Amino acid sequence: MSPTPSSSSLLPRRAASLFNGQLQQPTTVRQLVRTMEALSVRASCQCALDRFFVDAGLYALPVVDEHAHPVALLDRKSFVEFFGRPYIRELFGRRSIVDLLAYEQYDSTAPLVVDEGSTVEDAARMIIDAGMQHMVTGFVVSRQGRYVGIANGHDLLDTITQRKQAELYYLAHYDALTGIPNRALLADRLEQACLEADRKGSLVALLFIDVDRFKQINDSLGHSAGDEVLRRIVARLKASARQVDTVARLAGDEFVVLMEDLSNPGQAELVADRIVASMQEPIEMLGHSLVATVSIGSAIYPRDDDQIHNLLTKADAAMYEAKSAGRNGFCSYTPEMHTYNPASMSLESELRKAIERDELVLFFQPQVDLASGKVRGVEALVRWRHPQRGLIPPMQFIPVAEESGLIVQLGEWVVRQALAQLRAWQAQGLEPLPVAVNISALQLRQKGFVGFLMAQLAECVIDPGLLELELTETVLMKDVEEVLRTLNEIKALGIRLAIDDFGTGFSSLSYLRRFPIDRLKIDQSFVRDIDNTPVNESIARAIVALANSLSLEIVAEGIEKTAEVAVLRQMNCQEGQGYLFSRPIEAERFPAWLAAHGALQLAAA
Ligand code: C2E
Ligand code: MG
Ligand code: MG
Repeated sequence: MSPTPSSSSLLPRRAASLFNGQLQQPTTVRQLVRTMEALSVRASCQCALDRFFVDAGLYALPVVDEHAHPVALLDRKSFVEFFGRPYIRELFGRRSIVDLLAYEQYDSTAPLVVDEGSTVEDAARMIIDAGMQHMVTGFVVSRQGRYVGIANGHDLLDTITQRKQAELYYLAHYDALTGIPNRALLADRLEQACLEADRKGSLVALLFIDVDRFKQINDSLGHSAGDEVLRRIVARLKASARQVDTVARLAGDEFVVLMEDLSNPGQAELVADRIVASMQEPIEMLGHSLVATVSIGSAIYPRDDDQIHNLLTKADAAMYEAKSAGRNGFCSYTPEMHTYNPASMSLESELRKAIERDELVLFFQPQVDLASGKVRGVEALVRWRHPQRGLIPPMQFIPVAEESGLIVQLGEWVVRQALAQLRAWQAQGLEPLPVAVNISALQLRQKGFVGFLMAQLAECVIDPGLLELELTETVLMKDVEEVLRTLNEIKALGIRLAIDDFGTGFSSLSYLRRFPIDRLKIDQSFVRDIDNTPVNESIARAIVALANSLSLEIVAEGIEKTAEVAVLRQMNCQEGQGYLFSRPIEAERFPAWLAAHGALQLAAA
């Protein structure tokens, strides 16, 4: 085998003649030669071609570049293949073609035939089965006639061991769902980062990120959609962080961004703000569009703590602060946050105790007839009278209650308390007033829920028509048939049903017709500035029209200005609720408010 003088014009001619008319696609060989020239692999290529052309028994030949890396393949059917799939290189081994050709077994070895989708592991097993000569070298072709590579059993086994080790390492250090580092790898990197910071005098930031109301997203869309939401969130986290930052998943919907080598905390704030902003764009999924916001807390090493293991707890405490401040935002750690450090006392366990200690209170907000100004009913809204933190609004603890399941107990307390209050007002001589109570998905799905309602109404001797349950669209649209059955049972008791925050969820109108609903509550976001926001006005108008066509009553929420009342009245919206009439007030203050409101009406009339 002596290489012919290298000449680019010679190769195609020689190739064509040596293939002796068997060549189906001569242009392919020409292309190959051009590519090989471009890769400056002519010498090796020529060796290979010579070997190939003179030995009719050879099935196929690989071509290597000057570093002995395989670049292409030539076979009897003028097949040209470029090495792309990862295992081809692995199968090929690391030997140059020249070495290979020197092997005696080389041409005596029949090709090993594997299936197209074979893995390195499959090939290794076959090579081992085929006999030890394949452990040194041999061709591998696929059953479909494609060349797969040159087998080298030793290299293969080596690859498999390395891969297995890599796999084990991967499993131990990366999150399977999102592919990002897990808690273990984060801990490792955090430690390294802090050591480095000590040496350089730089800072390390931990951003603790929790997805707001992820449980609800998961419950309403299902787990696989929930997983996809998490993956999309991770993509946004990565895009918002710097390339050098570590984005890790702690558990469930909790993530951490580790930022090393900072010169000032402002750099972390910048990234946190960027993350919050990146979540505003809706995620399109299953034909829906949903916004998954996040709450972020940060802690800085060594500013907030020089003990690495405290850092995550402090970032977590700051995250809770961001949640308390209304979610969808960012908070830096401050020492005052110690009080509700979740490690010592989580909001959940505090809330559990709060229910037992009777720290919850109901406030009531009147619902007013927009034409006459008469009070038509009240909505019961829960608050938490926290011994240290004062009055806590529901949005700061209802989601925790929902996530932990405490909502069932809390919700039962609310129903019981609301009915007891109606009874008490009646005993004080007030006209019987309907009371609306907010019901969460989990409550509605409780087996004994209908029985519970029945028992409470009987115990307080309240006309079922005076109780209204407010459900959100998301609650209704999940497990529709099951929900429908429960709602029909509730309806059969004489209890009224309303859809709360209407317009913000994903109602299907055909289902809406099937539900035994009495009224729709237009979400306050559409009522806000309805007098000079045309888009709100048209949405509200459409909701009123829909309600009319389905013979449903309608209530507008969040009315703050008389101008809003005027617009709503003109579009034939019957009732309203909002700060304009009254903020939610304590039960004891309600009779006095009612008397004053009545007087105002009389004065206005
Ligand atoms: P929601 O049922 O839509 O209640 C209306 C919310 O709007 C109340 O907030 C009320 O105070 C507020 N609001 C009323 N009028 C106005 C207004 O004119 N302007 C503005 N800006 N806001 C107004 P709140 O009491 O903070 O309750 C928030 C949410 O918490 C409720 O929304 C409801 O979804 C939930 N919630 C409250 N109590 C309970 C409960 O007992 N059980 C359950 N599951 N959820 C509850
Ligand atoms: Mg409500
Ligand atoms: Mg509402």
